[in-house]
Amino acid sequence: MRKVRGFRLAGSVSVVGLVLAAMTHSGMAQSAPGLAADGKIRAALSDVSARQIQANIEKLVSFGTRSTLSAQDPAAIASGRGIGAAREWTKSEFERYSHDCGGCLEVKTDSYTQEPGERVQEPTVITNVYAVLKGTDPENAKRIVLVTGHYDSRNSDNYNITDDAPGANDDASGTAVSLECARVLSKLKFPATIVFLTVAGEEQGLYGSHHFAKMAKDQGWELEAVLNNDIVGADKSPEQDRSRIRVFSEGVPAVATDPDLRRLRLLGGESDSTSRQLARYMVDVGRAFALGVKPMMIFRPDRYLRGGDHFSFNQQGFAAVRITEFREDFHHQHQNVRMENGIQYGDLPKFVDFEYVSEVARLNAATLGSLAAAPAPPANVHLLTKDLENDSTLAWDRSPGGLATAYEVLWRATTSPEWEHAEKVGNLTRTTLKMSKDNVIFAVRACDQAGHCSLPVVPTPER
Ligand SMILES: [Zn+2]
Repeated sequence: MRKVRGFRLAGSVSVVGLVLAAMTHSGMAQSAPGLAADGKIRAALSDVSARQIQANIEKLVSFGTRSTLSAQDPAAIASGRGIGAAREWTKSEFERYSHDCGGCLEVKTDSYTQEPGERVQEPTVITNVYAVLKGTDPENAKRIVLVTGHYDSRNSDNYNITDDAPGANDDASGTAVSLECARVLSKLKFPATIVFLTVAGEEQGLYGSHHFAKMAKDQGWELEAVLNNDIVGADKSPEQDRSRIRVFSEGVPAVATDPDLRRLRLLGGESDSTSRQLARYMVDVGRAFALGVKPMMIFRPDRYLRGGDHFSFNQQGFAAVRITEFREDFHHQHQNVRMENGIQYGDLPKFVDFEYVSEVARLNAATLGSLAAAPAPPANVHLLTKDLENDSTLAWDRSPGGLATAYEVLWRATTSPEWEHAEKVGNLTRTTLKMSKDNVIFAVRACDQAGHCSLPVVPTPER
């Protein structure tokens, strides 16, 4: 009895202690940063179906091989084997979802001929297939969030285009996530635009995504976030952790210039790229919607010495993360289907956990929906450093697009991976906090009345 009471007392003391500690930072009470779980998005998440995802993965596997170098002529498409058939089916699936929402999706292809290069011997047509759910607010429709997976596959030999390359996990699982997000989110309306993308040519060197990201850059897309799902099937090995999903993000941006790098070195800014803010946002989304799979941030661009389609977007200056299962099984990746010494090789559907993929799809849909419902991030965020002082003054321009009703200043210890505190500052564009900029990292985000918040923006110093 006494022990229990003592435990409770200790618990309440620590809560009081935390509140006091928070208050001493700035003299005002703050809350931990969080996001609201939008009720409509929550309802859409319950519509995500493991059975639909399984059907889509099995359908993609049924094309035998989806090697980017495999046949895509009309006869091959008619025969239902090869990347051409997979492409046409993916397109028809997006079109089916669009039909179900009264034509709300614009289904498009981005196609070009890749000249011979790394892992491509002959001129090869590479086609990305995507669906656009246009934003309903004229001022915000030009803002875009995007989800992608690669629908191509490969087996042990890059140039083997005839034997099976089922690619159930790599990356029919990611393609199925993009498709399922399109199916469930197309039933809703958002002020900003969502793009559901599937790319080809990943296995030869990220060709499809490179072409697409460059198009987005050349056309001046306001692309705020890219979620690249690649190998999200929770391969059924005993060491797999089905409660977690890895989210990789670059720390120092691929496009950082020399002056950028000098500034990052001076300020300790190496963990605050826009991609990393996106990874943190996904953690908040996972918490807000109490999802069954938790994002596990990895502070590196990708797995050791490996890469993926998010690189293509990072290289054009966009925030992009890679989402991958906790533990990969390399017997099932880039392998011809075969038995050897009692081991089954090959990327087969039987190793994919469809329930897990549907939780990953929910995480993606919740992130896309939350961002597409939120105001644009505040612009031109600055930390004033003209005078040496212990207070910190932040200033910013209003979030463009008119959705924001208030701003929040976030901060964290320089050693902390996640935002720790948030302070609502109202509908202002300047605030002073009674705390030293030297001891923390700040950011500002724009929120609306319903609690949708933008990605946070870390200030640049202004003298
Ligand atoms: Zn892959």
